[in-house]
Amino acid sequence: MTDDQLLRYSRHIMLDDIGIEGQERILNAHVLVIGAGGLGSPAALFLASAGVGRITLVDDDAVDLTNLQRQIAHTSARVGESKVRSAAQALKALNPEVRIEAVQARADSQWLNERVPQATVVLDCSDNYATRQAVNAACVNHRIPLVIGAAIRFDGQITVVDPRNAQAPCYACIFPPDAAFEETQCSTLGVFAPMVGIMGSMQAAEALKLIVGCGESLAGRLLMLDGRSMEWTALKIPRQEHCSVCRHARP
Ligand SMILES: [Zn+2]
Repeated sequence: MTDDQLLRYSRHIMLDDIGIEGQERILNAHVLVIGAGGLGSPAALFLASAGVGRITLVDDDAVDLTNLQRQIAHTSARVGESKVRSAAQALKALNPEVRIEAVQARADSQWLNERVPQATVVLDCSDNYATRQAVNAACVNHRIPLVIGAAIRFDGQITVVDPRNAQAPCYACIFPPDAAFEETQCSTLGVFAPMVGIMGSMQAAEALKLIVGCGESLAGRLLMLDGRSMEWTALKIPRQEHCSVCRHARP
């Protein structure tokens, strides 16, 4: 680590759980962030400020005026630009050391199966169920840990899928992909602005813990926040023996 890095990351290095060794792990990590919107903005900003060496952002969307109320990586001046390029500018301004790859595409199964194996940790910051299921399947197949966040109206959810742990459930163990399910169109529903900030920041926290190997991750637990009462509910989720996604792809 250079003298500048020792200064920049000194408040991490002072933490017994991180220290120089943990910060080196962060500097050497590659995080794949699916979605550069409400959750992806704070998540990627914290990953960049914390010094994650390489961040890949993927999103096929462009910045719209209605995004700015909560998607804090974007600015009024960048309305109309691609979200990944806009977010990349914000991350670069915050920490020029970080290597940022901006991919303007939809993260489908083929793309995910190519890119997920290169990541240390994956963050699902997408706004739809189909993408979340595809990201979960790719992470289970390649045994890459995944942090899933969601926020809608005044409600937030977060969990971790850690396919390296044989006891921990995957996302499909909790929400089976074949179950009858009415897709919630996040793009057309209201969202209380700070909810995405809270959940996205927590996703960054879980990702950094997984990278450093400190604390206890949310694998096997689903946390739900009711933003009106600011009350958390924690559910312990067992692995489902007959889950269609993780049944055959476990250590
Ligand atoms: Zn499963």
